[in-house]
Amino acid sequence: MTTKSSAARALQGLAQAGLLPAVTPSLEQVAAQFAVAITPAMQALIDPDDPADPIAAQFVPSEQELRIQPGERADPIGDEAHSPLPGIVHRYPDRILLKLLHACPVYCRFCFRREQIGAHGEVLVPPALEQALAYIAAHKEIWEVILTGGDPLMLSDRRLADVIAGLNQIDHVKILRIHTRIPVVDPARVTPELIAALRGNLPSEAPVLTGAKEGKPVYVLLHCNHPRELTEAARAACARLVDAGFPMLSQSVLLRGVNDDAQTLGALMRALVESRVKPHYLHQLDQARGTGHFRVPLKRAQELVKSLRGYLSGLCQPTLMLDIPGGHGKVPVGPVFARTNDEDWIVEDHRGRLHEYKDGL
Ligand SMILES: *Cc1c(COP(=O)(O)O)cnc(C)c1O
Ligand code: SF4
Repeated sequence: MTTKSSAARALQGLAQAGLLPAVTPSLEQVAAQFAVAITPAMQALIDPDDPADPIAAQFVPSEQELRIQPGERADPIGDEAHSPLPGIVHRYPDRILLKLLHACPVYCRFCFRREQIGAHGEVLVPPALEQALAYIAAHKEIWEVILTGGDPLMLSDRRLADVIAGLNQIDHVKILRIHTRIPVVDPARVTPELIAALRGNLPSEAPVLTGAKEGKPVYVLLHCNHPRELTEAARAACARLVDAGFPMLSQSVLLRGVNDDAQTLGALMRALVESRVKPHYLHQLDQARGTGHFRVPLKRAQELVKSLRGYLSGLCQPTLMLDIPGGHGKVPVGPVFARTNDEDWIVEDHRGRLHEYKDGL
């Protein structure tokens, strides 16, 4: 929920930029429920004369968001059920989400956490932050901490460095992971100071102390849905992160009208690999409220992913994932190429031809 005046201001800004024909009462209703923001980098990428522009479709609010479909819910992936304390979601034993803030530089119209994020979004501050770190320190089974939100790279360098320095002190945590859209939507945010912060160093203290700390391995997972998002500036931001030693992987959401054709999807995966970002997950859209106009049926999603296999490098193959509604976790739901009658196997090649396979035991 956003305050009425800030929602109206956001819409007026988009209308002035020529991205919305008019601010209607229905759009005001949308913006009052679901936050609206588009960064200058993404505004510049939108072709206002193209009614089907895939960048506009992701960020410009639409009256269709008022249509709530059966099955859509406020907490589609069941974060609430697995949250032992504010800011933490602990669904799998070895890894947790640490939600540092609920703000994003852009607000995707299909966001799975759209009920929690926005201008009002809380930031995890002391003492809640200390309690979250104490929880992680007390749970020895936590091998990986995933910083998410919102977008964790919206935090100031100082705040981010503090959190990461805190995590660097917990021995059993071996891996840090950042879920972010920043390198694409605000590439200028990827500065040397940010890179220092990701290692747990404050930019001011690094030269003074006995040398900069290396920190734990940090993996950066980039949310990116369309090849056009990978502008020269975005690619350069990814290069700065990878060159600094942070491996990058991608998460994309399969979206009707944005990337639900084999050509766009293939171009996206190639553009990611060319940017040294390994395609990782392709998400079946979560059933958040008012997102039905983006939904691609799972059968079609499987066909699309199947169409990439064999025709694009293995580096370009993402895993199609479904977060089972109700908090049961993520599972791969991609195409199946091997079937068995419990004795023999029938395996399908990328051209759709079937082959027998025996285990040979
Ligand atoms: C998505 C998610 C993770 C990470 O799962 P991976 O398959 O390792 O990417 C961890 N915890 C929660 C609660 C999640 O929703
Ligand atoms: S960047 Fe992620 S959390 Fe932020 S609005 Fe988009 S989908 Fe939601």
